[in-house]
Amino acid sequence: MVTPKTDCPHVADLEITDVDYSKLLTAKCNDCDSNAENWICLKCFTPYCSRYVNGHFLKHYDSEKHNIGISLADLSFWCYDCESYIEHATLTTKVLRPAHKAKFGIYPGEEEGTVDDLVELLQATKLEPKPEPVDPIKEVAKIILSEDTNNIIVLTGARDLFFTNNSRRWIINCSRNS
Ligand SMILES: [Zn+2]
Ligand SMILES: [Zn+2]
Ligand SMILES: [Zn+2]
Repeated sequence: MVTPKTDCPHVADLEITDVDYSKLLTAKCNDCDSNAENWICLKCFTPYCSRYVNGHFLKHYDSEKHNIGISLADLSFWCYDCESYIEHATLTTKVLRPAHKAKFGIYPGEEEGTVDDLVELLQATKLEPKPEPVDPIKEVAKIILSEDTNNIIVLTGARDLFFTNNSRRWIINCSRNS
């Protein structure tokens, strides 16, 4: 497992512009015909093939000293001057996000799938409403509340029964001796 360097000082020299990564994903290497997941130079945003093809990204660094690129294969960043994979907040925001969106259709960290997928998922996991345990006192209370009556009803089992001037509002203390 390669741990990327997080303090590459060369990122600060980049002038990152907005580019269309969806076009770069299939673009040919500037020096050969390879379009098999090239590197994109982050100085000039030109695609170059990897060392596993014809090594044109390395040649580009040797001749131009353009040192940082993103691999379209795995969206990792490499700095030739640090001789290391690198990680940097600026690269994440300005390069990784749009490149990830172009490659995978979503921004990093976003859930995959469409609204329809989500609706389907919710329908599949919809829970049956839980039957509420029947509390006999509550049931009586509901009856009282549903009837427009001025009579006081004495409930067996209810410890206290209060009512307000508004006969529809009853307060029942439902605590029972256990
Ligand atoms: Zn560096
Ligand atoms: Zn090439
Ligand atoms: Zn370049």
